[in-house]
Amino acid sequence: MHTSEIFVGGQWRSPVSGETYATINPATEEVSAQVAKGDERDIDLAIQAARRAFDHGPWPRMAAAERSRILWKLADLITANLEEMARLESVNTGKTLFDSGKVELPFAAEVFRYYAGWTTKIHGETLNLRDGAFTFTLRQPLGVVGAIVPWNFPFLLASWKIAPALAAGNTMVLKPASLTPLTALRFAELTQEAGLPEGVFNVVPGPGSKAGMALVRHPGVDKVAFTGSTDVGKGIMREAAGSLKRVSLELGGKSPNVVFADADMEAALRGAMTGIFYNKGEVCAAGSRLLVEHRIHDEFVGKLVERVKGLKVGDPMDKTTRMGPVVSAQQLQTVLGYVEAGRREGATLATGGERLQVGDGRGYFVQPTVFTGVSNAMRIAREEIFGPVLSVIPFKDADDAIAQGNETFYGLAAAVWTRDVGKALRAARALRAGTVWINAYNLFDAALPFGGFKESGFGRELGQAGLDLYTEVKSVWVDLS
Ligand code: NAP
Ligand code: MG
Repeated sequence: MHTSEIFVGGQWRSPVSGETYATINPATEEVSAQVAKGDERDIDLAIQAARRAFDHGPWPRMAAAERSRILWKLADLITANLEEMARLESVNTGKTLFDSGKVELPFAAEVFRYYAGWTTKIHGETLNLRDGAFTFTLRQPLGVVGAIVPWNFPFLLASWKIAPALAAGNTMVLKPASLTPLTALRFAELTQEAGLPEGVFNVVPGPGSKAGMALVRHPGVDKVAFTGSTDVGKGIMREAAGSLKRVSLELGGKSPNVVFADADMEAALRGAMTGIFYNKGEVCAAGSRLLVEHRIHDEFVGKLVERVKGLKVGDPMDKTTRMGPVVSAQQLQTVLGYVEAGRREGATLATGGERLQVGDGRGYFVQPTVFTGVSNAMRIAREEIFGPVLSVIPFKDADDAIAQGNETFYGLAAAVWTRDVGKALRAARALRAGTVWINAYNLFDAALPFGGFKESGFGRELGQAGLDLYTEVKSVWVDLS
């Protein structure tokens, strides 16, 4: 596999600097690969290739049905190489092989299939405005898309951008997260096998501050699609203002997971667990604030803590493991720092809070952690931890739950657990978040839009909304007078 090269214009080549860097397996602390360290010069080459492919190449010009077949072929190739891709993802991120192999890579393949269906259904409108004119709109590709993705769902979140961008006829440059470039590089090889024309899809790994920023500043890029932290997203928006390129931002969250006293307690317990511990809490939509109605608070928290203590943390490749290590040494320090902050601010540590020794003691493992007695004023309730740390906040009634749920700068997701349909639907309306789950958590579908309110960003990925992020509307007026 080509890891120490960049993929530009359909060719593998060394980065201009000739430099590489090491990626580390978070479960073993061993080097997993030497990866090309791309910089501004590599990004420039990639954008030139994407520009040529868009301005002169076959991709935006070929029959939509032909683009569909190539996207479908890509999905088949992901499926055919699923085990290898899943292993790369787990080695890079520390997520369990079950999660990469049974959940995330299959979903990525599904996203390609979903958008393969869209290529032939992208259309404008004809408008009957007056006798002396024939007026219609065209939906055209934007041009060259720069995609920047984070390390928590490296290939899945890339697929949410690649599939719709390509379906609409754009060309693109992908900058994966420095920690997790391997599946993006493997996918680049698959694009060669699928017969994607050269220059349509390019990958340049490298530091965000250099390679990422170069993609945002470059005048040859028409749109930047970013998933990552709110701070970096704000910087990207500022920089993109220089050329007014289009921007879509999927940013962080501090999502409220609201459990009413009339909920199915068993289901709500499962939802609280997956809400915060799926992928070690490194989930933008994590249910990191668990709001529990006073009346059931102590009973619910008691049962939850029992389950958390039984959660198996360990080797991500082991089938019985439920939670792997956090992604990096730095992330481990961040998580432990928040545990310390929670203690200092007076929250009660109900379980967890320590680094965990697994096997020979190597790996960035941390105990699944629950704080109770948290208020929305505390840092552990306000800031995104991006780790397996749950803040439990009590509430009085539905109004109080909505008020506290919305008391955040973020607005990515929310969930409510109740048997009362009216209460659930009122909450779904009132919660200021891009997704509201009712009696569920962390459910996604390629056809259902996902994205944020407030500082969780703007634009919706997946579904038709996700396609609209990659097209321009053009109005055509034909004078008939
Ligand atoms: P991050 O630091 O914002 O990085 C995301 C990506 O941006 C990486 O590829 C990174 O490159 C790059 N980058 C960093 N600084 C940049 C800059 N100045 N200009 C251009 N690109 C730059 O986020 P992360 O640490 O990877 O991921 C965690 C964050 O992502 C969390 O806050 C989480 O909420 C958010 N997230 C949101 C969603 C969503 O769908 N809403 C999904 C997943 C994650 P390097 O890797 O080289 O730093
Ligand atoms: Mg970062």
